[in-house]
Amino acid sequence: MCAAPAADFSGFQGFLDGFDPDLGFADYLNDPTQISDADHISKVAGQLCYLSFKEKRTKNDKAGDYFGNIRGLGHGSVLEHPNFSFLFYGVSRSFTHELVRHRAGVGYSQVSQRFVDGKALRFVERPENVSDETLHRHFINWVNLSAVEYRMRAERLYDLQMAGKPELSAEGKTLQRKAVNQAARACLPNETEAPIFVTMNARSLRHILEMRASAQAEPEIRRLAVMLYEQIVQVAPIIFADYKIIELPDKTRALHTDTRKV
Ligand SMILES: Cc1cc2nc3c(=O)[nH]c(=O)nc-3n(C[C@H](O)[C@H](O)[C@H](O)COP(=O)(O)OP(=O)(O)OC[C@H]3O[C@@H](n4cnc5c(N)ncnc54)[C@H](O)[C@@H]3O)c2cc1C
Repeated sequence: MCAAPAADFSGFQGFLDGFDPDLGFADYLNDPTQISDADHISKVAGQLCYLSFKEKRTKNDKAGDYFGNIRGLGHGSVLEHPNFSFLFYGVSRSFTHELVRHRAGVGYSQVSQRFVDGKALRFVERPENVSDETLHRHFINWVNLSAVEYRMRAERLYDLQMAGKPELSAEGKTLQRKAVNQAARACLPNETEAPIFVTMNARSLRHILEMRASAQAEPEIRRLAVMLYEQIVQVAPIIFADYKIIELPDKTRALHTDTRKV
């Protein structure tokens, strides 16, 4: 995790102070129970909807009930306020191809295989290969071959570019490099590492956990989704309180919740 919300409600206090003092709104933020910034941001946003600022409001000590209600009713839009950023590395191109199908409430920045050439290539081995000597040997052979193949293709493409081949011509050094790399990368396997920086709000993160940490999900993305949950539940423990880690028959882990897609 690279970033999580930091709440600062000093500006919000001015809004509360503007109401008739008899309403008692001004004390809203003086809550003796501390909750995490991520949970607090969503709760304040949710309580704004009904101006639930009076003494009888749901206070922070009952935030678990408050979010249980939000999840049960499916009022998930208040979960869109806290955002979290992650760097996923040691992940394969097939993993990120699945991840980027999630569009709503998610931002991505991924290493460019056009700008960045093959000098920094790394590969990701699947667990099925790690645990079997023969498959592991196949993996090692294949990634070595792929790296060599990439280099040979890149060298040939560069020579052709220098010789003036029209499909490879480009203005300036950056575009010339891209023209070579984009053609050479076609030989790389799905096992190529594809680091990606991802920002999600709590609502989209919940959806991703439910889709990708389910028993039906592919093992690489499921493993990462469970790790993602283990991090996020530390910074937003109330919003994510409903998830349970379960063990599948093959001893790998998945997540369960009764309140899906809020
Ligand atoms: C086990 C598994 C198997 C899969 N198999 C395949 C497969 O074989 N082939 C394949 O192509 N994909 C497959 N997928 C990908 C899947 O179909 C979704 O594209 C992916 O999970 C993204 O989820 P999402 O559509 O909910 O999108 P998100 O972007 O995560 O959107 C979240 C929610 O926002 C709403 N939303 C987002 N965009 C729109 C929109 N444009 N219009 C209306 N509502 C919107 C929807 O309610 C959506 O559920 C698979 C996914 C899983 C988990």
